[in-house]
Amino acid sequence: MTDSVRDALRAEVVDDAFTLAAYPESETPFISSKDDAKDGLDDMEDALFDLHEMMFAAKERAVLLVLQGTDASGKNGTIKHVVRLVNPAGVKIASFGEPTEEEKQHHFLWRIKREVPGPGMLGVFDRSHYEDVLVPIAEQTLDDDTVAERFEEIRSFEADLVDRGVTVVKCLLHISYDEQRERFLRRLRRHDKRWKFRESDLDTRRLWDRYRLAYGRVVQETSTEDAPWYIVPSDHKWYRNWAVARLLIESWEDMDLSYPQPDLDLDALRAALEDPA
Ligand code: AMP
Ligand code: MG
Repeated sequence: MTDSVRDALRAEVVDDAFTLAAYPESETPFISSKDDAKDGLDDMEDALFDLHEMMFAAKERAVLLVLQGTDASGKNGTIKHVVRLVNPAGVKIASFGEPTEEEKQHHFLWRIKREVPGPGMLGVFDRSHYEDVLVPIAEQTLDDDTVAERFEEIRSFEADLVDRGVTVVKCLLHISYDEQRERFLRRLRRHDKRWKFRESDLDTRRLWDRYRLAYGRVVQETSTEDAPWYIVPSDHKWYRNWAVARLLIESWEDMDLSYPQPDLDLDALRAALEDPA
């Protein structure tokens, strides 16, 4: 068996078909308990920090972490628990809500391209360009040709990112219908969580099956060799955090990173520093 979390969680598109229903939301590959996951994440802290710092220092490569998932799937939780473990100076986080009037005047990738991480940066998308296919497919507001065109544009946009040295890590935070109910109820119960709840979240929940199918279609159309989707079982928050941390580490390990070593005459520089002013 592989010990690569990327291999274990990569979406399997077979004969151009992908079935999200085949992926359990509460399984926890490689991890046996909450404590196990928490210890694992603690053990990854130094590696996460160092690898990201090396990429930040070298300013050559970049990572774009795309977090997609329904309401309460844990996009913000992942940022709070995983992304916070790296140097914030090297992170660029963008949240994409319903397009503003200005954004609607532009191509759907316009607002996305402005947030792409530059060299050295970890970019995090809390929702993304995928909303521009998910919502219209689920809500049936765009014709098939336009949707197909958007898929093509997304594939070529991401291929271009990869060509420019940006590793694209696309995570579908996969939660069950029941778990979403529990999380919504918790949001309603807790005075410090209620702000996250919007009544329109229930409209989206009513379209659960349609969104499921839309997600399946999105994965099928846009899981490419260079920018695959990872289906992250997310009913357990501790597993989700552990898994996303591993996906980042494995992506950085592939880059063969090290701290830049500038060619300096250390003795001369030290001597210069000894000199009284
Ligand atoms: P939240 O992530 O809870 O702040 O919610 C953001 C809302 O904006 C969700 O209901 C998304 O589906 C919606 N949204 C984000 N991007 C788009 C888009 N491009 N088109 C339509 N709705 C979107
Ligand atoms: Mg929401």
